[in-house]
Amino acid sequence: MNTYARFPLTLVRGEGSRVWDEKDNEYLDFIAGIAVNTLGHANPAMTKAIAQQASEMLHCSNLFNIPKQQLLADQLTSLSGLGAAFFCNSGAEANEAAIKLARKYFHDQNSPRRSVISATQSFHGRLLSTLTATGQDKVKVGFDPLPPGFSHVPLNDIEALKLAINDQTAAILLEPLQGEGGVNIAEATYLQAVRKLCDKHGILLILDEVQTGIGRCGTMFAFELAEVRPDILTLAKGLGGGMPIGAMLASESVSASFGPGTHGSTFGGNPLSCTAALTVLSEIKANNLLQNVLQRSEQLKRGLQNLATSFPVIKQVRGQGLLVGAELNVEVAPIVAAARDKGLLILMAGPNVLRFLPALNVSAEEVDEALATVATVLEESETWV
Ligand SMILES: *Cc1c(COP(=O)(O)O)cnc(C)c1O
Repeated sequence: MNTYARFPLTLVRGEGSRVWDEKDNEYLDFIAGIAVNTLGHANPAMTKAIAQQASEMLHCSNLFNIPKQQLLADQLTSLSGLGAAFFCNSGAEANEAAIKLARKYFHDQNSPRRSVISATQSFHGRLLSTLTATGQDKVKVGFDPLPPGFSHVPLNDIEALKLAINDQTAAILLEPLQGEGGVNIAEATYLQAVRKLCDKHGILLILDEVQTGIGRCGTMFAFELAEVRPDILTLAKGLGGGMPIGAMLASESVSASFGPGTHGSTFGGNPLSCTAALTVLSEIKANNLLQNVLQRSEQLKRGLQNLATSFPVIKQVRGQGLLVGAELNVEVAPIVAAARDKGLLILMAGPNVLRFLPALNVSAEEVDEALATVATVLEESETWV
């Protein structure tokens, strides 16, 4: 079905941050599958690990113990400080699981709290629950009736949140850094104040790190930057490095509300996807990729800021780690297309923001090359933007 406005380009293979189309034209990939290809394309450690696992077992029902899933749960709980993990196959499913868990947690306490407050401009996925939580009307049109129990407040406005909280509120659901909505940072002071409000009212804090988690922001999880721990954390995109996997982590006391039969997924946490995720985690550690993310982030942001002095069309450069946005005074779609014609793949985040999401192991040379292409595109576009 025609659900995607596809770029006129067919990519058939990749290596690291390079990809090739079916005519063998080369591109520098600063999209990385929308923050999915954490280790770049055709990473040798990844290829080896999933080939080995494929030769042993692809799938095993969750009615059995799955050692790779247990290992992954151990690592993710230890990294996040949360007590337990549930595995699914996507970001939307992870958020759906988070919303269900929050409701069940209050049900188990005989509390009427059921509703979820999220932020305007947010993106939480395309399921009926998660598109309702999403703070953008364009994803909702035509899909009514939408489930009840969701409301929205502007990001970074703690007074608006205080007014929105009532005795029905079960959870606050936020992205620490909004990806799809325009690369908008939730300020550390805001997240800290939200955490305090949650503690005061006994409300759960759910952080959606589907795009920001697994090293993307220069720390394993973006919540570390704000020094705020959520009660529930969702992950997906970069977790499997290209294999589909989502995870919902929760503190021990909250996770206790998901007993046998309360939730499930046939494919969630299968041996192949868990092997891929374990490889992502071990490669991040072995190759010191968090440090690379911070260094390349500085280089990319500084480079874009320098460009802004020659090209005032660049209004603001923002982001964390390798989730970087450049807001322009003009619509960016023609710039994304012109960059593609010059061999650089970048994304939009809303109509006016260019988004850069390279693999976490992108090199300094590749960042310089991307910056040079953006400079050329802006130079040549001065007549038409
Ligand atoms: C992409 C994204 C989702 C949805 O993930 P899917 O795997 O497409 O379902 C949810 N939340 C955030 C923050 C995302 O960036």
